[in-house]
Amino acid sequence: MIPKTHPRYESLLLRDKVKNAFKEGYLADSGMIAHGRGETFDYLIGERTTEPARKACEAAVAYILLAENPVLSVNGNTTALAIDEIIELAKATDSKIEINLFYRTPERVEIIERMFKERGWEDILGGNDEKLEYIDNLNSPRATASKEGSYIADVMLVPLEDGDRAEVLVQNGKKIICIDLNPLSRTSKMSTVSIVDNIVRAVPLMTSMALDFKEKGKDKDKEFLENIIKNFSNEQNLKDSLAEIKLK
Ligand code: ATP
Ligand code: MG
Repeated sequence: MIPKTHPRYESLLLRDKVKNAFKEGYLADSGMIAHGRGETFDYLIGERTTEPARKACEAAVAYILLAENPVLSVNGNTTALAIDEIIELAKATDSKIEINLFYRTPERVEIIERMFKERGWEDILGGNDEKLEYIDNLNSPRATASKEGSYIADVMLVPLEDGDRAEVLVQNGKKIICIDLNPLSRTSKMSTVSIVDNIVRAVPLMTSMALDFKEKGKDKDKEFLENIIKNFSNEQNLKDSLAEIKLK
């Protein structure tokens, strides 16, 4: 048990979740390394949602609300850190959820599938029973695509994604929203919208934005949403995110 008074309590709690996910068998060992890299960048931005990240979240929500077939992609890290938050976001934005693992094994898929179902999310895509397609140019188990999900998705949220896959998805004409604490990663550079923030903060923020738009009747206001997108530049936003790293 980590004492609540520990100055690094929040961070250690997340580390614990990732460790447990590995022990439970649904997170690959390299997922723990990816988490460590994320921690570093989070430390450097002060473990808070920066203004550029907030703007990126807003643009992301606009894309998702305008989409015909929005899909939230989940892997082991995402499941470990933000399973409930992802379900809330899917509900608030009428999105589908699909399992996509870099190191896909039937066991990992089965555990993640079960975790979503236990939380009442029955319609989890990308599972073992589904006949999966392969996204062009990436004929490996990690390029699996559910026919109802990422295969036909126009907008995809890909938290903690690998650069190769993000690139292929973009090449396939999809709008890609990544959540990646590293503003220099290939994924961040590749994506349509890159949210440089911790997934545990970004996803609830997106949900609250979506619900707020709904409450004001803005979720169906195409002009309003398109305006948000028009005023957003991912290149500039990445520069602004990088500038949030203050080395003293
Ligand atoms: P790329 O392939 O895009 O260049 P990479 O190879 O450096 O990226 P990966 O291991 O493929 O990195 O992806 C993991 C990414 O997820 C890292 O950039 C890391 O910063 C980020 N990350 C890890 N944990 C979190 C988290 N909790 N929230 C947001 N991002 C995270
Ligand atoms: Mg990578």
